[in-house]
Amino acid sequence: MITDNFGIYIHIPACLKKCGYCDFNTYQLSDKKISGVLLDNYVKALCHEIVQAPNRLINLVKTGENRSTQTVNSFVKWKFNYGKISTIFLGGGTPTLLSVKHLKQIFQAICNSFTIDKSAEITMEANPDTVDYDYLEQIYSLGVNRLSIGVQSFNTDILRVLDRTHNPANVLSAVNWANQIGFNISLDLIYGVPKMSLDIWQKTLKTALQLPIKHISCYALTLSDTVPLAKSIDSGQYKALDEKLVAKFYLLADKLLARAGWEWYEISNWSKGKKYRSQHNLAYWQGGQWLGFGAGAASSLANFRLVNPNLPSDYIKGKPAKMEKLNSEQLIIEKIMLQTRTRYGLKMVDLDFNFAKLANLLKLDLIDKSELELGIIVPTIKGRLLHNQLIQAFL
Ligand code: SF4
Repeated sequence: MITDNFGIYIHIPACLKKCGYCDFNTYQLSDKKISGVLLDNYVKALCHEIVQAPNRLINLVKTGENRSTQTVNSFVKWKFNYGKISTIFLGGGTPTLLSVKHLKQIFQAICNSFTIDKSAEITMEANPDTVDYDYLEQIYSLGVNRLSIGVQSFNTDILRVLDRTHNPANVLSAVNWANQIGFNISLDLIYGVPKMSLDIWQKTLKTALQLPIKHISCYALTLSDTVPLAKSIDSGQYKALDEKLVAKFYLLADKLLARAGWEWYEISNWSKGKKYRSQHNLAYWQGGQWLGFGAGAASSLANFRLVNPNLPSDYIKGKPAKMEKLNSEQLIIEKIMLQTRTRYGLKMVDLDFNFAKLANLLKLDLIDKSELELGIIVPTIKGRLLHNQLIQAFL
């Protein structure tokens, strides 16, 4: 069913330099896949897609096999601005490479097509060495109220392994400016990086906890075979860390954050109080609906999934999105995989469960007993670490 509120995701596939561990859909500004295209043309295509979106989506739903009066009505209601946009997330890539003029164009396009809720959470990902006080002040005045800063580590050796362009001093300046201006600040950190010890990780966490921030995401380093860091590990330049040690990094993060009064609410996310949880990402994990704009961006509306072409040049030329319609079994699998990641959990009433498997998960200490008694499947800390094993029981 289509609900009235939507999130918007905007993808900016450009970075100053491609980091050695990254396989996101993003390109170095000098890369031929983005150069020649440059950000002006990209933003023009983005605004075009945003302005066209309401009509295109209504047509999609009307012509889809699964059209129902309720679905079409819901889209029509949304088009005529009864439905609201509750979150906007500019991700990438490095959205802070956009000029203020680009951002004004994008927000204008959004306002022309949709109604944005007055209390909408508007997040922008930022790389610490791409912002200064003036820039942050201007984007704040455009309505961006949450800044998600890609810190990864406060240790210069680890930043070097990750091939990042910034240094810890850049982070401290960016956080202080953002705090003075009034942003709600989130930091992204990475653990399990070659050369990282528990001591280095602990220092990074403690430094982060001293900053005026409200949200932290901690991700384990995962590498696809093709990225330069994976090749450096294969060649023996760096040594991959043992899985048991990587698990200890996660446990240490959870312990230090909990001790400082922070709460986990998703496997990789902690906040300083409920009101600072990322509303945009929570909607994603809880089966909300969103529209994705830009190269490679995905949209999720009821049982439709649309994915734009990855290459910025294809996107600018107007190559259409690929559409998939999920069947009920695929929707259930998606729900299990996403909702068991959060502390809100998966409600048993929504699905048929095999009680012997549930009993086994309890025995293995992968799910929380008191939540289960309330009919909700919520992972324990062990279940968060072994999430793949947990979901296998339901698939
Ligand atoms: S800055 Fe982020 S998105 Fe860009 S290359 Fe590095 S890790 Fe990837």
